[in-house]
Amino acid sequence: MSDLPGIDEALALVLAHVRRLPLEDVAIVAAAGRVLGEDAHAVVDLPPFDSSAMDGYAVRASDTPGPLTVVGHSAAGSPEQRAVGPGEAAVISTGAVVPEGADAVVPVERTTGEVEVEGVVPGENVRPRGGDTRAGNVVVAAGSRLGPPQVSALAAAGVAVVRCARRPRVAVLATGSELRVPGEPLAPGQIYESNSLLIAAQLAQVGVDANVFPFVTDDAAATLAALEQALELDVLITSGGVSVGPHDLVRATLRELGVTEVFWRVAVKPGKPVAFAVRGETLAFGLPGNPVSSLVAFELFVRPALQALQGMRDPHPHYFVGKLGHAVARNTQRDEFVRARRDGDQLVPLSGQDSHMIVHAAAANALVLVPRGEGLLEQGTQVSYLPI
Ligand code: AMP
Ligand code: MG
Repeated sequence: MSDLPGIDEALALVLAHVRRLPLEDVAIVAAAGRVLGEDAHAVVDLPPFDSSAMDGYAVRASDTPGPLTVVGHSAAGSPEQRAVGPGEAAVISTGAVVPEGADAVVPVERTTGEVEVEGVVPGENVRPRGGDTRAGNVVVAAGSRLGPPQVSALAAAGVAVVRCARRPRVAVLATGSELRVPGEPLAPGQIYESNSLLIAAQLAQVGVDANVFPFVTDDAAATLAALEQALELDVLITSGGVSVGPHDLVRATLRELGVTEVFWRVAVKPGKPVAFAVRGETLAFGLPGNPVSSLVAFELFVRPALQALQGMRDPHPHYFVGKLGHAVARNTQRDEFVRARRDGDQLVPLSGQDSHMIVHAAAANALVLVPRGEGLLEQGTQVSYLPI
């Protein structure tokens, strides 16, 4: 078993088969969650003009302190056209253009009479044109996922359309003759199907809408028909049917459909039976049926692949560091992901670590990596974890 690929080796194999999807134009209003395919440059200086940081009076700093004559009014969106001359001031609101001649703003709180102003230095309370960025500068670099600050920055800098990789089209297909939809009564031997929901929710976190296929029984013809359709998309994710039982049909059926297996089984717990295969540019992931195995295998291999398909600069899982809340026995053969709860920098492993125990796993917010080896990982050991 120790000759199985490790996590890093398996992930490298996956990423070696991923090609970024073609770029398309995306309106900035629809770009949140997408990954930039090309650097996006500012269209305008930001701010586009010297603007006031305060409500107050636009003045010539050299005239202050002192009494000034109000000669105009610059409101946001309605610039004052007249210049401010010596001994003069213009009423100004936050975000309004600082009129010609003025070089500072006296906040309204600091004026004593209507126009008796306190002293200010040049530039005080003025946001200089281009102080945030200059036209032509990179606002967000290629390979970045567009979160709230990024879409906002692009819009502010006048970017109306960005170039992003097309969203991956992903099929999700659960297999298993025992599966029922929640809400229907269970016959003997049946369980509720949950993995397609798990996978769809994980996909949503990567900005991908799942095409969830109706699940199939462990029947060769049904499996073949469903897989054939599902392989039309960019990525196929199956659930179940990748172990060694007589009803585990997924791998053999994929082979029949001309899909080449890249690996099957990885030295990881849970998630060992995971399979990865390709046909042309189509990627196929066979996730194990046990829900926690499915969850872990997705985080380790599928999420990075989807991030790479979208052109993310670093598609690898991003591990955080914490301290083990209590000792854990290491697995000699496989790296293990232990479900834990974060409490400050402590990661407290939960009870119920079996790979079918999705309810126990639902109480976790971290997958702690316990590297394979002998003996115990002691309490307080620094460990890496993936947040979930
Ligand atoms: P398999 O990988 O098909 O051998 O399934 C392993 C275990 O996971 C079995 O206990 C299955 O009943 C369970 N399982 C398989 N598919 C699902 C699913 N879609 N939702 C919930 N449990 C599943
Ligand atoms: Mg099965």
